[in-house]
Amino acid sequence: MGRLDKYNVDLKGLKETSGSYQWTVDQEFFAIVEGEEVQKGKVNVDLTVIKASGLYKLVFSVAGTVIVTCDRCLDDMSLDIENTGELKVKLGPDFADDGDVVVVPEDKGIVNVAWYIYEFIALAIPIKHVHAPGKCNKGMMEKLDEHTAQEGEDGEPMENTGATDPRWDELKNMIENDNE
Ligand SMILES: [Zn+2]
Repeated sequence: MGRLDKYNVDLKGLKETSGSYQWTVDQEFFAIVEGEEVQKGKVNVDLTVIKASGLYKLVFSVAGTVIVTCDRCLDDMSLDIENTGELKVKLGPDFADDGDVVVVPEDKGIVNVAWYIYEFIALAIPIKHVHAPGKCNKGMMEKLDEHTAQEGEDGEPMENTGATDPRWDELKNMIENDNE
């Protein structure tokens, strides 16, 4: 985790009731966190840490551009994203993350926020994302069209070949009898 050390937030070392942090994450960051949805991009991250009674509130704000795969042509496409999110962190005996509150060991009092930054970025990506009309990779679209057409002919066998029509059986018997 050494390469992500700069995303360590020292909660115990927080002198004031709040602190703020800024990072710009790019290719290098996405390569290290190995997230599935985003591998490239450039996103500015602002984090405000607020010390409340018994816990720390971490408010993230992410804004920038990510490169994702277009759902239609599978080419890279650039997407502007913006999102805010909140994380509650407590100090405790052992690391735990139940989805609502993250517990970090109190002897160190440090939370690494790299994965949470990634998640807030990934959450900002709409489920369906495609190029603007006409901007898809034309060569790829043609190949996909061919592929889809072939699937229609070869990939989907006629559904009623398994269950035969009784009239067809009769006809078949008649033909077979004729041949004898
Ligand atoms: Zn596209």
